[in-house]
Amino acid sequence: MTWTTHTVFNQPFPLSNSNLFLSDVPLCDALLREGGGWDSDWLASVGSQLGSAESLELGRLANTCPPELHRYDARGIRVDDVRFHPAWHLLMQGVCSSRLHNLSWQPDVQPNASVARAARFILHAQVEAGTLCPVTMTHAAIPLLQRYLPTAFRGWLEPLLSDRYDTHAMPGDQKRGLLIGMGMTEKQGGSDVLTNTTRAEPLQGRGSGEAYRLIGHKWFFSVPQSDAHVILAQTQQGLSCFFLPRLLPDGSHNAIFIERLKDKLGNRANASSEVEFKDATGWLLGEEGEGVRLILKMAGMTRFDCALGSHGQMRRAFSVALYHAHQRQVMGKNLVDQPLMRQVLARQALQLEGQTALLMRLARAWSQADDANQAAFARLLTPAAKFVICKAGMPFVAESMEMLGGNGYCEESELPRLYRDMPVNSIWEGSGNVMCLDVLRVISKKSGIVEALIRECDEVKGVNRHFDRRWRQLKLRLGKHDEAQARTLTQDILQLATAVQLLRHAEPRLADAWCGQWLDTRGEPTIDAALADRLLARASGR
Ligand SMILES: Cc1cc2nc3c(=O)[nH]c(=O)nc-3n(C[C@H](O)[C@H](O)[C@H](O)COP(=O)(O)OP(=O)(O)OC[C@H]3O[C@@H](n4cnc5c(N)ncnc54)[C@H](O)[C@@H]3O)c2cc1C
Repeated sequence: MTWTTHTVFNQPFPLSNSNLFLSDVPLCDALLREGGGWDSDWLASVGSQLGSAESLELGRLANTCPPELHRYDARGIRVDDVRFHPAWHLLMQGVCSSRLHNLSWQPDVQPNASVARAARFILHAQVEAGTLCPVTMTHAAIPLLQRYLPTAFRGWLEPLLSDRYDTHAMPGDQKRGLLIGMGMTEKQGGSDVLTNTTRAEPLQGRGSGEAYRLIGHKWFFSVPQSDAHVILAQTQQGLSCFFLPRLLPDGSHNAIFIERLKDKLGNRANASSEVEFKDATGWLLGEEGEGVRLILKMAGMTRFDCALGSHGQMRRAFSVALYHAHQRQVMGKNLVDQPLMRQVLARQALQLEGQTALLMRLARAWSQADDANQAAFARLLTPAAKFVICKAGMPFVAESMEMLGGNGYCEESELPRLYRDMPVNSIWEGSGNVMCLDVLRVISKKSGIVEALIRECDEVKGVNRHFDRRWRQLKLRLGKHDEAQARTLTQDILQLATAVQLLRHAEPRLADAWCGQWLDTRGEPTIDAALADRLLARASGR
């Protein structure tokens, strides 16, 4: 008897053991250009490690064996413990050792640390996206905690800045590494946090650093295993921000009850929960009534990370599809050499060129936020990038999936997981419309924003006619506060800012092709063969 009925041929090898950094020339170029070149060696080393078959397998395992809630221990005592597959813990060790949660806040940090961190973030996103949630929230919370943590918790600041991942259930000052979550969304409203009903009453004194008793709930509370969450609750003076440790300083459990874990479309490796606070103890950060202002500072950073994460996942989908197209033969030719497929691939490569240039420029603006002009650029372009890039991710991954044909639809290809993971970045931390309304608001209410955009765009006037025309049109619309048009306005701002980066720094034919694709309203021109070769070479590390 033989098992063999046929010879297997023309089935491509899956993409593994590639260097996620060195294979991405647009990213390498942008890192140097935006002042993060000092991190190149680290990125090359971690890029090789992350691209390995072993690392990709960890990403798969963490998602096929999602976390489970164990509410009681063997003796029947309530513990509300979330248990993860070991793969999750190994991946978390990786993101923490890359300092995605604190690189920007290191005391001896190199210049433009946000640029290096952005590049690291894009690499990790290609392996597993759920682990980005805890490090994003921790990264955003650290400046707030550094400023406002009450004296009793100052011992938390050192482990917050370490590169360790420590799962021990102990008070923060006794641990080697810490994670912080964020809890705003309640059943009746997520975008409109002013509707929060969770109440906070002072235990003794009222005011910054004082302890309050919290009663209420959060409808979405990701990473419930975090050492603490920053949450919103109502006080006498309105919505306020609280530090809510999982364990109280004496080691006992704070009264945070995990009701259940969310059953999610994607992001399955990461635990998101529903919780109730039944006389939990939280410490006021800042003053009563300052909640929205403080939480919005954190939200800017997490929104930037959403755009970075989506970009990283798009890059992975593209790399998998390109590798496949180089191997799969259809009608006598490799797919990559079929003129129509080459167009699709080249257009995706061009799209990623633009996103990379914009995101890394934005990362530099975050690093240089002491400069008012850079701060204004970051304030405007962060919600715009979150809206446009996170939305673009969904059709992009679907296209990559299709390039693999039926194999793309099957789990072994990585693409179904990328496809499931993609929408969440568009929804959480402010959904699409909310981002566009934010763009509209900062344009009309914050000084220096429009000027920063004008300064950026005027620099490349006269270089490309599509750019000039669209920029002229946009300038006329900047003064109009029209909510119904906020999406097109946001998209135009993001596209023009992207074009600026390419017109300034990329080869002219590449920049012109990008403007032709995304700024010329008459349709998508064909990318010529020589440029397609160039784009695909840059996208493959050549
Ligand atoms: C997997 C996952 C994990 C999450 N983890 C957390 C977490 O850890 N902590 C946390 O606090 N939250 C978390 N969230 C919640 C998330 O931030 C909210 O779902 C999101 O902010 C939207 O709020 P909502 O669900 O209440 O929707 P709504 O606020 O009801 O919004 C619904 C829709 O209406 C749109 N909209 C809102 N206002 C307007 C307007 N004025 N004009 C036009 N359109 C508008 C929004 O863009 C959205 O598309 C998580 C969500 C998910 C999916």
